[in-house]
Amino acid sequence: MTQSSKQSHIKHIGVLNFQGAVSEHITILNSIDNVQATLVQKPEHLTKLNGLIIPGGESTTISRLIKQNGLVAPIKQFAKQGKGILGTCAGLVLCGNSTTHNEVELLGLMDICVERNGFGRQINSFETILEIPTIGEQIPAIFIRAPYIAKAGKGIEQLAFVDQHCIMAQQNNILVCAFHPELTTDNRIMRYFVDRC
Ligand code: GLN
Repeated sequence: MTQSSKQSHIKHIGVLNFQGAVSEHITILNSIDNVQATLVQKPEHLTKLNGLIIPGGESTTISRLIKQNGLVAPIKQFAKQGKGILGTCAGLVLCGNSTTHNEVELLGLMDICVERNGFGRQINSFETILEIPTIGEQIPAIFIRAPYIAKAGKGIEQLAFVDQHCIMAQQNNILVCAFHPELTTDNRIMRYFVDRC
């Protein structure tokens, strides 16, 4: 492969850099060959990106900072253009249309209703192994004050479940998971996302 054809295969993936598991996402993205990972804090940082990750953390805080930094409309526009978005944990909450706790202002990128903290508090955090038919077997998953998808509209593909609750889903270019794929060394979920960007 020539240098220029190598360059054209590079996927530019941004990580929303306000709060939460930001550096862990950058590290796991850097473990994938054709990825250039960058931090996003302003609308102009979205311009050259193929995909955006909205990380886990505290959805109320991240939502407030998205608004304060003028990123609500640009992120919605980014999604409308068909560019990839991955929401992990609090990021899943923010991608939803509605939540059981309406103090969080959502981006409404996906027709899902989210049960925030659905698996309980910090003390109820857990690790498990998932079988995700479209992605792979024996995928480690860490859940920290994790939400689940209580209701999913038509057109939502539900990818994985824990205790019969949907914890991973996709709709066209939007992918969400209730757990933290960036906290393991298994990069299959990230590769799945990057390939779709
Ligand atoms: N429970 C948190 C919230 O709703 C999400 C927790 C996480 O991202 N690990 O904001």
